[in-house]
Parts: sequence; C-alpha cells; structure tokens
Amino acid sequence: MKKTFFNLIQEVQKEGKCNHCGGCVTFCSAISYDALSMDDHGKPFFNDINKCNECGLCYTICPQTHELDEEIKQNAQWEEPIGHTINFTVTRANDPVIRQKGTDGGVVTAILSHLFDTGKIDGAIVSMPTPHGRVPFLAKSTKEILDSAGSHFGDSQGMYQFSKDYDTFSPSIKALSELKASPMDRLAFVGTPCQINTIRKMQALNIVPSDSISLCLGLFCSGNYFFHDKSFANLEEKYQFKYTDVETINVKDNFIFTMKSGKQVFIPVPELRPVRRPACDFCEDFSAEYADISFGGLGAEHGWTTAIIRTPQGRNVFEDALENVLTSFRLEDNPKYITHAEKKIFDVSRQKKELFEQNQMNRNKEVSLAQ
Ligand SMILES: Cc1cc2nc3c(=O)[nH]c(=O)nc-3n(C[C@H](O)[C@H](O)[C@H](O)COP(=O)(O)OP(=O)(O)OC[C@H]3O[C@@H](n4cnc5c(N)ncnc54)[C@H](O)[C@@H]3O)c2cc1C
Ligand code: SF4
Ligand code: SF4
Ligand code: SF4
Repeated sequence: MKKTFFNLIQEVQKEGKCNHCGGCVTFCSAISYDALSMDDHGKPFFNDINKCNECGLCYTICPQTHELDEEIKQNAQWEEPIGHTINFTVTRANDPVIRQKGTDGGVVTAILSHLFDTGKIDGAIVSMPTPHGRVPFLAKSTKEILDSAGSHFGDSQGMYQFSKDYDTFSPSIKALSELKASPMDRLAFVGTPCQINTIRKMQALNIVPSDSISLCLGLFCSGNYFFHDKSFANLEEKYQFKYTDVETINVKDNFIFTMKSGKQVFIPVPELRPVRRPACDFCEDFSAEYADISFGGLGAEHGWTTAIIRTPQGRNVFEDALENVLTSFRLEDNPKYITHAEKKIFDVSRQKKELFEQNQMNRNKEVSLAQ
C-alpha cells in the first residue's frame, strides 16, 4: 500500500521533522486533489481527507522521507562534499538601489530582474514582505521582484512584523499553486535548500507544477529561526542589545544584527540553536546542493554575495548577469579570497551534515528504546 499524507503526519510531523517547505500541499492543490491545506504557520494538514485518493506523491516528494534521494543526486550529478560545483564567485549588484534593498549584495534580485527584463523568464517565485510577514509570492513584474528583495524594513513597521519576517519560514513552493489560474512555463524559483530539494523531486517525477520551473536559485541556510521566542531574551541579555532595535540581519560566520543606530552585534550561529526550528536539526544541506546557482553571505565581505554556480544553465544565466548587472569582487586585492570562501562553505556544510547524522542517530536510539 502506498504511503500518503497520513504517513507524513506519523513519520515527519509527529517526529518534529516537518520543515514547512510546502511541497506536499502544493502538489495536492496543483493537481486539484485538494485534500491538503496549510495553516497560518505553514503547517500542512488534511483539509478534506475524503479527497485523498492515496496517490502517495506527497510522501514521495517530501524532503524528509528521503525517497528519490538517489534519483535527484543522479540528475544533479551530485558529488562529495557539497554537490556538483562549476565555479565559486563573490559579486554584488551594479544597481545601488538593489544593493540597498538586498540582503547581502542584492545578487539574487539583480539576476531575477535581468532575466525578467530580457524576457528570459515569465515570473519568479520569491518571498514577499507584507505587513503580516513574508509570504510566498509569484512575482510577475520587475517592481514585484524588487519589492521581494532582502530584508530591509522601514521605521514604520512594528517589531512584530519584523520578527515575523525572520521567524516565519516562507513556504515559497506554495505560490506555485497560483499557476492553476495563470499558466506560465518559464519561472525562476528562489528558496531554501529544503524547498529546492522538493522541487527537484517533483521534477524527477515530472509532476505539476514543477514543470513550470526553469531555474532554481538556492539560498545557503543554517536554519529558520524564531526571534520572538522567549529564549532569545537570553541572547539579548548576553549580547546587550534589544531585538526591537534591530534593523537588518545578515548571516556569515556569525549572525550579524545591525541596530538602527548602526551598532552591530555578532553572535556565533550555533548559539542561536535554541531558537531554531527543530526540523532544521534534521537537515543536511547548507549550500542548496541541488540548485542551479546557490547564494549566501558566508565567505563574502559585507555588501557582497557568494555564489556557487552548479549547472550549465546556471553558468549561462550567471555569465550573462555578470556582463550586464553584476560586479565581481576585487580579487586582485587577494587572489586567495575565493579559496577561503570555498573552505568556509565546505566547513559549515560538513558541520551541518555531522549534526544531522548525530541527531538522526539520537532519534533512532530514542525510538528503539521506546519500543
Ligand atoms: C531562512 C534563511 C536562512 C539563511 N541562512 C544563511 C546562512 O546561514 N548563511 C548564509 O551565508 N546565508 C544564509 N541565507 C542567505 C542570505 O541571507 C541571502 O539570502 C543570500 O546571501 C542572498 O543575498 P542577496 O542580497 O544576493 O539576495 P537578495 O537580492 O536580497 O534576494 C533574496 C531573495 O530571497 C528571497 N527570500 C527571502 N527570504 C526567503 C525565504 N525565507 N524563503 C524563500 N525565499 C526567500 C527573496 O524574496 C529574494 O528573492 C539564508 C537565507 C534564508 C532565507
Ligand atoms: S491525494 Fe495524494 S498528494 Fe493529496 S494527500 Fe492524498 S496521497 Fe497526498
Ligand atoms: S513536504 Fe514539506 S511541508 Fe510537507 S510534510 Fe514534508 S517537510 Fe512538511
Ligand atoms: S535548515 Fe534551512 S533548508 Fe534545512 S530544513 Fe531548515 S529551513 Fe529548510
């Protein structure tokens, strides 16, 4: 008998491994089975169990079931230690407005805008800031792509919204469901490694709506964090800052909280583990190993983005962007710069995989003790 969403509840949700990627709901909705929905926190649930025809595909494409892992590895020509890589670069957007709006160098936004302006994509699935936090969004204009950039917030926005921007994982895949109403077949998708993983599984099975995605842009990811969690107060006390004063957050070797006053607070990433989504303990992908291009702040100076080009298609897109809308880091100042960046990414990726193995082993022990 095929495993269904019922098994995802037992094996993934109840085990605290659901990372709210949205893949299960997206497929079920896109094919109009409509058995599943997502609550306001991104948790999927049986909306109408009678509509479930037990196709089993939500189970197969869930990144936490590890089904199809071998297929997607083969398709991506995955190799140790961090997947297939063609090139590492550090760049930033030429446009100062995009740089100002972007999280790091505004590179993701510059690439998306360029692809859209040159007619190479019909739209992009991004994460849009709204007064109620970030929401998955199908951007269909340059303005919408720009509006979805980075993490800068005006003074008028309350801290509640601000915290939601960071603590609410944006189940971006869900925006694909909108395609039912407006068919498009050349979309770029921006997402965290778990979301890219689900998209690649859908593509391996050739199921809707993943056939619309022509480019996957992945974000490095150490986790999804709850900054309004009570235990964050311990960090505020230890590092002498107030979350309500924070204007921007960047993740590099440390979390960098920049206050409205310009003061910066650096907190080592592992110290934020108590406020990290527990499902992220069961994730082994830091650098979006299945993306066409992966992006992060790690390895780059402030205001720049590190990118890993992974596929020939990613290389074409990046080279075109580099000629038109991006600037390379001044490598002549330090020819070993990229090697250092690469090493950092390898180290953080290895640590994440080791933690995953450890957590998985502990969980298996707990289960066998309980039996
Ligand atoms: C949850 C999370 C954790 C991260 N952790 C790390 C880390 O540990 N180390 C590191 O080096 N980098 C990390 N990053 C990546 C980093 O913060 C930047 O997104 C990346 O460097 C690209 O910067 P940019 O200025 O080029 O992108 P921008 O031009 O600012 O574009 C960012 C794009 O990402 C989209 N986006 C924003 N938030 C989300 C989201 N939650 N889900 C899906 N799409 C989203 C935006 O809509 C936009 O299209 C993380 C990102 C996220 C979302
Ligand atoms: S119809 Fe298929 S995708 Fe939808 S819940 Fe049932 S098994 Fe999952
Ligand atoms: S597909 Fe994603 S949202 Fe659905 S159960 Fe798996 S991890 Fe959770
Ligand atoms: S660490 Fe990032 S990619 Fe992994 S499950 Fe958490 S949010 Fe998803």
